[in-house]
Amino acid sequence: MTFNHFDFHAKITAGIRACNYEIPTPIQEKAIPEILEGRDILGLAQTGTGKTAAFVLPILQRMLKGQRRKIRTLIVAPTRELAEQIHGEITRLARQTGLRSLAVYGGVGKPAQAKKLRAGVDIVVACPGRLLDHLRDRTFNLSGVEHLILDEGDHMFDMGFLPDIRRILKFLPAKRQNLLFSATMPGEILHLAEDVLDNPVRIQIGHSRPTTTVSQMLYAVDQNGKVSLLKEIMAGKDMASTLIFTRIKHRAQSLASQLQKAGYAATSLQGNLSQQKRQKALNGFRRGEFKVLVATDIAARGIDVSNISHVINFDMPATVDAYTHRIGRTGRAACTGKAFTFASREDRKIVSQIERTLGEKLVWVNQKNTSEGVPDNTSFAERPSKKSWHKAKYNCRQAGQRNGHQAGRPAKAAKTGKQEQAPVKYCKTGNRQMRKRRAAIMIDGSGNFFLNP
Ligand code: AMP
Repeated sequence: MTFNHFDFHAKITAGIRACNYEIPTPIQEKAIPEILEGRDILGLAQTGTGKTAAFVLPILQRMLKGQRRKIRTLIVAPTRELAEQIHGEITRLARQTGLRSLAVYGGVGKPAQAKKLRAGVDIVVACPGRLLDHLRDRTFNLSGVEHLILDEGDHMFDMGFLPDIRRILKFLPAKRQNLLFSATMPGEILHLAEDVLDNPVRIQIGHSRPTTTVSQMLYAVDQNGKVSLLKEIMAGKDMASTLIFTRIKHRAQSLASQLQKAGYAATSLQGNLSQQKRQKALNGFRRGEFKVLVATDIAARGIDVSNISHVINFDMPATVDAYTHRIGRTGRAACTGKAFTFASREDRKIVSQIERTLGEKLVWVNQKNTSEGVPDNTSFAERPSKKSWHKAKYNCRQAGQRNGHQAGRPAKAAKTGKQEQAPVKYCKTGNRQMRKRRAAIMIDGSGNFFLNP
């Protein structure tokens, strides 16, 4: 299928051409005809699937007719970065249409926004808080809105925006087309969908699963070993553009400066930065001036930088959804990407949850070989099972090893002359509870690290 199939106006086709889009992505194939028909949509689509163009293109087509410089489309997004990204895509796609869009978010001056809004725009892409501020100030009204798009609904919920969304709904006319997009469907979003959408078409693309173009690998490492592992990986691979995630702002900042000192063109994107500095970091990363961007989840939410070759989860994300969103930053729109995740012993539970959600085992990389193309494909399934771990432990005891030393008792293998299986390194000191905790990260006979299952 090509974009000709949708019979877009020549002014919109020109925008598609300018963006070099040749073939519609699956969500575009499914959503565009329904939106052109005026149907409400509940879209379950992860990031990187082309969902922005999936709603922007048909909305632009519907807006070609009708009054200009009156807000007829409202798009609500959870973060400034996402709002800017959507606004940017509209600007590119709508260049020939004469339709004007404006991004409205906090952290920058209100009066300048108010001036542009009063001058007249057709599409507003807004974050909930600043939008409500303007509505309360009566900067403009939304009585002419024909299309409402709620993007990244699950993030709006995560960030506590649902009450604001419900307040915004009160400013809108009852008759309108509604589109709600979310990568996952928590109960609260389903309730919102029931309240907002009228007999929606449900479109689901790769629910809760990262794009198939991303290869995912796990590294078992303790907190203390993460920086040196990271440097080792980065030194051994050709990494064109790397996005690294940390859990806290401070760590994003300090890791970026450690990488700078190590000679990498690195910067950080985290909540402590002013909007101007955030934009500078993001633009620098986008333009390739920075090869490495170290970011927190909130700061990186919604950022659209094409050609990110690697995503590294320096800290394990808190939820499976966060994992999906992080690694969706690479492998966008049919490009391939790699996602490396550092897993310490505390992360065992979330690793299992991720694997359950993905329906597949993640690949564990042998850390002795961190260079490109040599992951040993040791998956959870292939790592020693609990049973064989016990067997290995038994062998180890049988071999008479205690605290890494040979005990006086001769190994059974030596007695029988049989070839023993390489023993798992296991320190048998302290009580059972202590041993259990300490043995969370193990090394098997061939040097592979794994989490004690
Ligand atoms: P999104 O899921 O909207 O964040 O889009 C992810 C990336 O895919 C963006 O960089 C878009 O510019 C790009 N994209 C969207 N639609 C297409 C398409 N049909 N062909 C190629 N790239 C696309």
